[in-house]
Amino acid sequence: MHGLMMDYPLTIDRILEHANRIYGDRQIYTKLPNGSTHTYTYADLYRRAKRLASALSKRGIQIGDRLGTFGWNNYQHMELYYGIPGCGAVCHTLNIRLFAEQVAYIIEHAEDRIVFIDASLLKLFEPIAAQVSCVEQYVLYGVDSVPETTLPNVLLYEDLIAEGDDDYPWPVTDERTAMGMCYTSGTTGDPKGALYSHRSMYLHTIGMLQANAAAITSADMILPVVPQFHVMSWGIPFAAALAGAELIMPGPFLQPGPLADMVQDYKVTVVTGVPTIWMGVYQEVQKNPRDLSSIRALIVGGSAMPRSMIEAYEGKLGVNVVHAWGMTEMSPLGTICHLSRQHEGLSQSEQWDVKAKQGTPIGGIELRIVDGDGQELPWDGATMGELQVRGPWVIKQYFKREPSAESFTSDGWFRTGDVCTMTPDGYMQITDRTKDLIKSGGEWISSVDLENALIAHPLVREAAVIAIPDEKWSERPMAAVVPIEGQTGLNVDDLQAHLSAHFAKWMLPDKFVFITEVPKTSTGKFDKKVLRQQYTDGKLA
Ligand code: ADP
Repeated sequence: MHGLMMDYPLTIDRILEHANRIYGDRQIYTKLPNGSTHTYTYADLYRRAKRLASALSKRGIQIGDRLGTFGWNNYQHMELYYGIPGCGAVCHTLNIRLFAEQVAYIIEHAEDRIVFIDASLLKLFEPIAAQVSCVEQYVLYGVDSVPETTLPNVLLYEDLIAEGDDDYPWPVTDERTAMGMCYTSGTTGDPKGALYSHRSMYLHTIGMLQANAAAITSADMILPVVPQFHVMSWGIPFAAALAGAELIMPGPFLQPGPLADMVQDYKVTVVTGVPTIWMGVYQEVQKNPRDLSSIRALIVGGSAMPRSMIEAYEGKLGVNVVHAWGMTEMSPLGTICHLSRQHEGLSQSEQWDVKAKQGTPIGGIELRIVDGDGQELPWDGATMGELQVRGPWVIKQYFKREPSAESFTSDGWFRTGDVCTMTPDGYMQITDRTKDLIKSGGEWISSVDLENALIAHPLVREAAVIAIPDEKWSERPMAAVVPIEGQTGLNVDDLQAHLSAHFAKWMLPDKFVFITEVPKTSTGKFDKKVLRQQYTDGKLA
């Protein structure tokens, strides 16, 4: 017997309707490339997104068509987030930091019919356009007239919006309709497309809003530093609208100085970003102090936030750090770290140890850890295993690819490619990616643990640890270390002595190299593929 409750479709337009009705007067601020600030409300967003959806339908865009976006975090990109799915099409965000060939590959693979381009990125986009054939129309936003360009078929965004109607009825009734798409950045192979549905994104939004997750409310002012081209800006554009939180969109101003200014000027309560951003902001406010005390949650993820940085933010600046873990394939939120009642008696330092973990799965997500044979492993806080997940906002297949055993188990779990431990009370800690673990004589050494310890050394700015081939042990750790600028006193003996306090002798790196910067991917993560190519002659790339 079925329950007797309404089959109310969980579609993204419902979120926008709610924002318009209840929080219509709340502000969305955008920093424009010319340095001025654009200000409007959720009611304005609603009206313009609806017109955009209407205009796209009139021009023949069908349910399921993919439309690309190439831009910064700003109000127009917010409109695209709602207007494109609002007419039933798929909002396919393109990563502006990839090489032209990669973006072109992704556009062709997705078969994008239209690409919306931020005018300030036009020159960056031109070489990409030269390599694609599926795009019928380019739509330019952020300018009043079409500048000189090599792009064919260019339309102004404002002209398109003017074609739309205010009373357009949202057409999507099936909540399983695709609404968004994001390709993985390819740190582990060819870019692969994750295709989100209205239902999955709606449920992810509810998941984000849980008090045990991001706990966003109508009292918040959010600064999403995570780009809208990276996993839907971690879902903030939807969560903020459903909760009625105000937004300050940074546009192209992602440098530490402007970000610290925005926090201070707008009394920001929630920020989201990868650790490298927060390391930069920390160094900035050491030099030029700003008031960051309005922040109630500095949400950080994408790669591990070093414990030393958590201690710096909480101990020195009084800013609460919330460590989260997720993946493009998970919309992205999987786990988030909050202290619980059982941590009450802990010392400050022990609490920071907890906060350095990636936390507990948010309600809706299930986790398990398994060994190489797929056998479940105990949650004892020490046993490392491969992390597998399932839930309503986890992919079941990549776009245009059959589900492979490499990514999915036969009993319906997604294989994350991460290695972690679980405590008995459900706190997850990433120890590595399966590809980055150092397998030395049958034992596993976590490259992340070594990196965290190295970065805690006062003269170290960055450190990345990779496996190098070894005849006897098969693999051994090598550390690439970046000294703090102007520090020449750093030497291998010091580093070995520093690490010996935390690691068994057999775990210590066999080799150290000093470099000026760790190579990074388009999303700011360490690019160990590049280091491996450089230091192992491609043998372990
Ligand atoms: P990719 O880097 O492959 O493009 P994503 O951007 O989706 O993919 O990143 C997902 C991966 O980032 C996770 O599988 C994990 O390895 C890493 N990651 C995300 N958050 C954290 C975190 N808080 N700590 C450690 N690693 C993290």
